[in-house]
This record gives sequence, structure tokens and C-alpha cells, in this order.
Amino acid sequence: MTQVAEIRRPCAPSETTVDLPPLHHYIDGAFVTDPTTATMPVINPSDGAVIAEVPLGSAADVDRAVAAAGRALASWQNTTPKERADILLAAAGRIEEHADALAALESWNAGKPHAVSADDVASAVDTFRFSAGAGRAFTEMGAADYVADHTSLILREPVGVVGVVVPWNYPLLMAAWKIAPILAAGNTLVLKPSEQTPLTVLRLVEIIGDLLPAGVLNVVLGTGPDVGARLADHPDIDLVALTGSVASGKAVATTAGQSLKRVHLELGGKAPVVIFDDADLAAAATAVATAGYWNSGQECGAATRVLVHESVADEFTERLVEQVRGFVVGDPRAGDDVEIGPMVSQPHFERVAEFLERALADGATAAVGGVPLGGPGFFIAPTVLTGVAPGSEASQQEIFGPVVTVETFVDEDEAVRRANEVEYGLAASVWTREVARSLDVSRRLDFGTVWVNCHLVLANEVPWGGFKGSGYGRDLSVYALNDFSRTKHIQLNHSR
Ligand code: NAD
Repeated sequence: MTQVAEIRRPCAPSETTVDLPPLHHYIDGAFVTDPTTATMPVINPSDGAVIAEVPLGSAADVDRAVAAAGRALASWQNTTPKERADILLAAAGRIEEHADALAALESWNAGKPHAVSADDVASAVDTFRFSAGAGRAFTEMGAADYVADHTSLILREPVGVVGVVVPWNYPLLMAAWKIAPILAAGNTLVLKPSEQTPLTVLRLVEIIGDLLPAGVLNVVLGTGPDVGARLADHPDIDLVALTGSVASGKAVATTAGQSLKRVHLELGGKAPVVIFDDADLAAAATAVATAGYWNSGQECGAATRVLVHESVADEFTERLVEQVRGFVVGDPRAGDDVEIGPMVSQPHFERVAEFLERALADGATAAVGGVPLGGPGFFIAPTVLTGVAPGSEASQQEIFGPVVTVETFVDEDEAVRRANEVEYGLAASVWTREVARSLDVSRRLDFGTVWVNCHLVLANEVPWGGFKGSGYGRDLSVYALNDFSRTKHIQLNHSR
């Protein structure tokens, strides 16, 4: 008999509401209203209540924003790295000043536990600060003669106008991961937040908008097939960057291919956690309990797929289940100690619930959880599935909920082969005390990030991005600045 979590609810939800930002597109330095535009509801996933109505943008709104971004580019791209850095640092300060309000708004709209929202805001501040400094410090090869009497100079230029599409799981943070390096590199942009979670991006532009020249940063609200697709299609957009699902990535890349614009894709993940028989099992179980269920498992790098040596599988699983059983599940407004919130929407809740149903029908066992919880709101019991068959859907597909699967392996070659057999290539971790094995296995794993004896540890200095079905392009670090820049070779003939 598995134990199922209860949902903690706030005593008086009506007293815990948060101020709303302006509920409009932000184009050419101002919030623009159009009373005739259709709207879409923004839902609180903890109780299903409507928080607000926001405009459903159209291709025409994108076109207005792209025109503004194009006009702004002429002067923004000629500012110095220091001038841009001063603005990004000021923006970081503003975000920090509004940190509590931003975190509360994020928790309300996305159902995030307070610890996650607070971490998102702090990380966004650091992304702005890192990008400000990195934009001033990043370098190219030196000017030199590579052909006799011909001096080569490499100029780094912004790409131009960038279209950005971000998901609902980290609404503010994923926007910051794009906005800060894109601006630091001298580009202007038009960003579309997720239709489910537009509120913190609107608050962000409200609090930092006056720091930027009009048109440098624009936000258009709306759906993927309308606003997102127009960003991929627009002839005056030079690069389109999407963080989202594989299906959306394919749609954007296909559309962008028609105009040969550059594409930057951060897509899904299904991170394997490879635990060898010499691993520190207590540390591994604690790391999976954190990194597997962070943001209620709605995390592209989550430690979601454990592959553990058969000789230590029972001990590892017992340690993990003990911690998962103790999670506080609830509405984030019911206390800062809530660890697991709801799924972001009714459709996503149903998707995760159906995944669980099929996994159990396929022969997996719920060592804890395994079921949806009662409403209101979209809660799934924190779950550990054991006996998950290699190659089964639960082992291969991104569930994106508070669900960790456990599979066993017999030897190292099998562990590496099975870890690599997923279509994704975003992140993985390896758990062993043997140094040579940790490096050798890391090199054989086909993932953009491989952690050794840790999982989901990120820093702004190091790149984030995937291989295979997880897309291409890098967020964070100077690699992101590179992706949002282009290089020009100027060669001077100085023969006399
Ligand atoms: P999603 O693909 O449904 O939506 C992401 C964004 O793409 C939304 O703004 C959506 O409106 C837009 N979109 C949808 N169809 C589009 C189209 N045809 N053209 C243009 N835009 C379109 O993803 P989601 O459900 O919001 O987010 C979850 C997914 O994002 C997961 O797969 C997760 O792994 C991934 N993700 C990846 C990273 C990473 O860094 N690799 C980070 C966070 C989330």
C-alpha cells in the first residue's frame, strides 16, 4: 500500500493575493492597450481560479514590436559594452529591490513553492549581473597577418533583432536567461511569454522598462501558433530563440528555415542519474529527492530517471522513498515550507496523471504516490516508480511532474548504453567514488551537462544546453553571448 500526500491549503486564500502588473503588450517603451483585442485567462494552478485576463496578441502585434525593435537597433548596437552593462546592472538592482513581490507573483501564477520562486528571482538577478560583466570582458582572436601583407581583424557584432519564446516552468528566469545576454551583446528583442504564465515578465518590464531606450525590449502576449509562429516567420527577425518542448522546437526550426534565420533551441530533457555500486547512496538519494522534485518536477534537467546498479537498488530506493514520503505538498500560499506545488495547468495535470496510469499498467510499481490528488488545483502525489522496464514510455519520455523512475543495470557498459538511449541530450549525472570512472563515463554520456556526485547545480559562468532532441545553442556563460553575436572578418592589404 503506497502512502499518498495530502494537500495543504491556505486558511484565507483571498488575503494572500498579490498586486497585478499592467496586463498589456509592451511595445516601443510603453504598455499598449487595445480594448477590442480578445483575451485569455491566466489561472492560479493551486486552486483553478482566474487571476487575470490578458490580451491574445496577433501577428500584427508582433509586426509592430519588430518594427520598434528594428528602429531601436540602430543606436543600441552602437552603445559601448560599458553603457549596456551599466543599464543591465541597474536592471539587476531593480529586480533585487522587487524580489519578494516578484517571487510571490511567480508562486501565484505558476504554483511554485516559495523556495523555487525565490531562487528563480535571485538567479535572474545574477544572470543580469553576469551578462553585464561578460559583455565587457569577452574577447576574440588577435588581429594578425595570416596572409603576407594582409592584416585580419575580427569584429564581433550583434545578430540584430531577436525573437524569443519562453515556457511556463521558469517564466521569469527563462526570460532573464535570454534578455540579459541578448541585450549585453547589443541586440534588441521581442519576447513572448508562455500563455499560462505571463505575469512576472510583465512585472519585469514594468520595473526595468524605463532604464532601456524605447523598442530595445518588447513583449507580445499570445499563443505559440499565433505570436510564437510569427516570431519564427518574421522576415525582419534575425534569430529566433525558443525554450520549450521538442514539438515547439521543431515547429520553430521548420518555419525559421524558410527565411534561413538563425535558431537557438533549449528543449526538453530526461536526465539519467547513473548510480554505481560504490556511490555514496545517502548523498545520491538526497540529491535525487531535491533535483528530481525541484519545481514539482517541472524542470528540464530534473533528476528524473535513476539507473542504479542492481546490488544497491533496494537500499537507494528505500532512502529516496523515505524522503519523498515526507514532502509537504500544497498551495505555496499555505507556507514557505511547501515543497511540492501543483502542475501548471489542467491539461498538464491530465497529461502527468495519464503517464502514471500507463506506467502502472505497463508493470511499474509506485513505491510512493502514483496518483493524482483531489482538487481544487492540479496536484499529483510525489511519486517513485520502481520496476520500470527498459525502453518503456516512463523510462523514455519526459513526464515533467513529481515523478522519479528507478531502473537497474548490471555493468558499466549497460549503464552508459541505456542512459544514452533517450531522444534527449540535455543533462545527466554520474554517482561513483572512483575518479577515473567518473570522468570516463561522463565523456561517454551524450548530454550537454554531466554532473558528477551532484545534480542540477547551475552557475551563470558555465553553459547550459543540450544535444540531440534537446536542441542546440547555449544559455548562460560567454557561450550565450557568442550565440547572440556574429563575427565579421575585415582584412586590410598593407603591401607597399
Ligand atoms: P511548449 O513548447 O508547449 O511552450 C513553450 C513556448 O513555446 C510557449 O511560449 C508556447 O506558446 C510556445 N510555442 C508553442 N508552440 C509554438 C509554435 N508552433 N511556434 C512558436 N512558439 C510556440 O513548452 P512548455 O510546456 O511551455 O514548457 C515545457 C517544456 O520546455 C518542456 O519540454 C521542458 O523540458 C522545456 N524546457 C527546456 C529548458 C531548457 O533549458 N532546455 C528549460 C525550461 C523548459
